[in-house]
Amino acid sequence: MIPFNKPYMTGDELYYIKDAVARGKISGNGYYTEKCHTYFKEQIGFRNCLLTSSCTDALEMAAILVDIQPGDEVIMPSYTFVSTANAFVLRGAKIIFGDSYTNNPNIDANHLEKLITQKTKAIVVVHYAGVACDMDKIMDLANKHNVYVIEDAAQAIDSYYKGKPLGSIGHLAAFSFHETKNIISGEGGMLVVNDERFDKRAEIIWEKGTNRSAFFRGEVDKYSWVDIGSSFLPSDVTAAFLYAQLENLAKIQTRRKMLWFNYQKGLAQLEENNFLQLPYIPEDASVNGHLFYLVCKDIEERTQFIAFLKGYDIHCVFHYLSLHKSPFYGQNSGSQELPHCDHFADRLVRLPLYYELDMTHQDRIVELIKRFFSKINS
Ligand SMILES: *Cc1c(COP(=O)(O)O)cnc(C)c1O
Repeated sequence: MIPFNKPYMTGDELYYIKDAVARGKISGNGYYTEKCHTYFKEQIGFRNCLLTSSCTDALEMAAILVDIQPGDEVIMPSYTFVSTANAFVLRGAKIIFGDSYTNNPNIDANHLEKLITQKTKAIVVVHYAGVACDMDKIMDLANKHNVYVIEDAAQAIDSYYKGKPLGSIGHLAAFSFHETKNIISGEGGMLVVNDERFDKRAEIIWEKGTNRSAFFRGEVDKYSWVDIGSSFLPSDVTAAFLYAQLENLAKIQTRRKMLWFNYQKGLAQLEENNFLQLPYIPEDASVNGHLFYLVCKDIEERTQFIAFLKGYDIHCVFHYLSLHKSPFYGQNSGSQELPHCDHFADRLVRLPLYYELDMTHQDRIVELIKRFFSKINS
């Protein structure tokens, strides 16, 4: 059986967890949390970051930081995970969905400006599959209209836009270390703070609305309730697990990218024949090997495709359903047309891609995909 995903354990996780336990302090903001923060700052170049219990948490922190008030509008793609929207809905925001490009599920920057109103507070971009959004255009637009940009970089570790790491461009960014992502800690995430105006408050919101972090640095003589907040910080056991993964980031990325390019090479002929569509990588974007997908002709073909591979014990999954058509959003939003988002929601399939995917197994997947599309198009 070839699963869709298999979380990769580097082998060092228990060593660091054991050490965290031996240190006798396993709550949040401890030794390994600090080591992870330092890694991200020094090795990737993030200005300031805070580990969280999930990317969802980091997005919720971002919504609090940009001070979303009931009635504020937040623009984002409809082709995304629910957390991108929920974090802002929880603070009373009205979500305005933008459409995808025709050749890429990311939000179409050329049609963003008409969505901006007096009430727009933020634009949330999602780097789908770790492929960068059109950040120059989006940042220019945001600066022109004085709105914040938050990067949902859940899938975007070790990916770049014009040489800049994704997550370092918007005012704030959120990463995920869920077990389906490249670097994992079971559940886990991180908020990146690129705009220094948010530094102080981010730390307070992270620590339940208290100035506890400043207290431990000796900056205040007692710690108090100073703002809203929650328990967004992960335990140091989670951070210890993540640290083991971070030390192996280069190795993990080399393998995942190799598998990604194998799929691209193996399936290129099918795209040339117009049998399917493969991921489009804009010139300014990089590949981080997060996920490989193909786009079928229609929903029926996709259903057949998934069933065909399932018959050989190979598990593929489709992905996001258009949020603008979801039961929660659809009922109070009228009838918005986002055809390119629907295009991907109906046709996109994700192929198995994980560190331990055997190359002979991958060759077999590619052969079977070729067989399926040759047959259906003959
Ligand atoms: C995985 C993912 C999330 C949620 O991450 P969690 O860490 O599970 O909260 C949010 N947005 C996108 C685009 C994701 O892929």
